[in-house]
Amino acid sequence: MIFRALILLFVIVMGSAPGQAQKPLDPETILLTKMVRSLQEGYQGYQLLGRICTMFAHRMSGSDEGAAAEEYLVRHLATLGVKVERQPFPIQVWERGNSLVQISYQGKKVPLAARSLAFTPLQVESRGEVFDIGTGYREDFIRHAASLKDKVVLVDIYPDIAKPNVMNPHRSDKLRWAQDAQARGVLFVNRYPGELLPTGTVSRIDSLVAIPAFILSRGAGLNLRALVRNNRVVAHLRASARMRQSQASNILVHFPARRPSNETVVIGAHFDTWDLAPGAIDNGIGALALFDIIRVWTELRPLQTRNITFAFWMGEEQGQIGSSHFIKQMIHQGKADSLKFYINVDMVANTNGFDMEGREELSGYLSELGKRIQSLGLDFENKQQNKISLATDTIPFFMQGVPVVQTMGQLPPLAYRAYHTSQDQFFLVQKKHMILSSQVLAILLHDLAVMDQLPAARFSDQQIKAWLRKHQAEELLNYPYGR
Ligand SMILES: [Zn+2]
Repeated sequence: MIFRALILLFVIVMGSAPGQAQKPLDPETILLTKMVRSLQEGYQGYQLLGRICTMFAHRMSGSDEGAAAEEYLVRHLATLGVKVERQPFPIQVWERGNSLVQISYQGKKVPLAARSLAFTPLQVESRGEVFDIGTGYREDFIRHAASLKDKVVLVDIYPDIAKPNVMNPHRSDKLRWAQDAQARGVLFVNRYPGELLPTGTVSRIDSLVAIPAFILSRGAGLNLRALVRNNRVVAHLRASARMRQSQASNILVHFPARRPSNETVVIGAHFDTWDLAPGAIDNGIGALALFDIIRVWTELRPLQTRNITFAFWMGEEQGQIGSSHFIKQMIHQGKADSLKFYINVDMVANTNGFDMEGREELSGYLSELGKRIQSLGLDFENKQQNKISLATDTIPFFMQGVPVVQTMGQLPPLAYRAYHTSQDQFFLVQKKHMILSSQVLAILLHDLAVMDQLPAARFSDQQIKAWLRKHQAEELLNYPYGR
């Protein structure tokens, strides 16, 4: 840290990297250097996240805790001297009740530790023979479709290692394929060892599914898989839940261009969580990284030629309800065409690269930008990836044809294992990881807000469809996502 600060100081004082000929700094380098330094020295997001994680047990959209956490963030943003817009939207709150999974084989009955997943039916009891479909790619469900009727499907929640070039389906897609094949329920096997049971939705949008779904611990799931190989195993499933109509709010901060512009760059991160934990990693770490970028923007007021909107989304966990609502409002106000670029931050810090989300044309641009980031003294690897994300706030922007970039980073393994479990707590967060995240995002955002021509253009409806097909993400066309 000290070493990095020294290099930075050296760059500021000398105006060039060590060993190179001196030349005067251009205004942009001076501005970016100030940004990087202000983020390094005056960082507030880490402490603020710590307080949020202590004060609120969770930030589930539509819950009292969620509303109180929204209010708290709004108050803190206001201290930066910015105008904060609350954008309310309706949301269905699913509250878990009891879960029971019991298996019987060879005359024995064994209960399994299990947790029902969000949007499982409200009162449900069913039974069926367990059918192990393995990882559960689309092709597996197609191949076994005839065998799944009246069965309880056993399936990995995520594969250990994703197949290259094959879309890794979301749990809600697997649930829907099982439901279409008239299965009676789904038992997901957790990816990580240990007794923690992650939650999550099995619906793409905030509405009930038709059959119950549960998560099993990795150990219980693998045991069951071994049993099914040699025995007829019947699973008995029971679950209860409540559902109520509520409201949550996106929190938006706008920085208009210096001269009126009809082009807007949006940078967003979801602030909501599930009900089990304060979601320090998913996605406090992403949301609070925006806080200091806003602070720096108010301090330095860059000369933007495009509008910028910072968005703290709610309702992401229930199916990108908040970001979809934002898109719907933009369409309603006739402003959707102004959306030119979206940067998403979800569970990322200690940033080491960019994911171009299916837009190969961004590769050259991002690699040059990465070099620029390195030249400012940041410890940034400049990796690149070209996957598309099927379960975060990128989706409503994809569906409008807006180019999307996500940052990538490397967190400690424990941080990923805590995903959607009660373990997703503040102790997993490191301040230096958040600072680097904000620094990289600020440089990317600044560039997109001032450059002459953006490095990728919006798609037409036809291009969107072709692009979804190419990336095996046509599933998304079945849902509204703000359209
Ligand atoms: Zn998330």
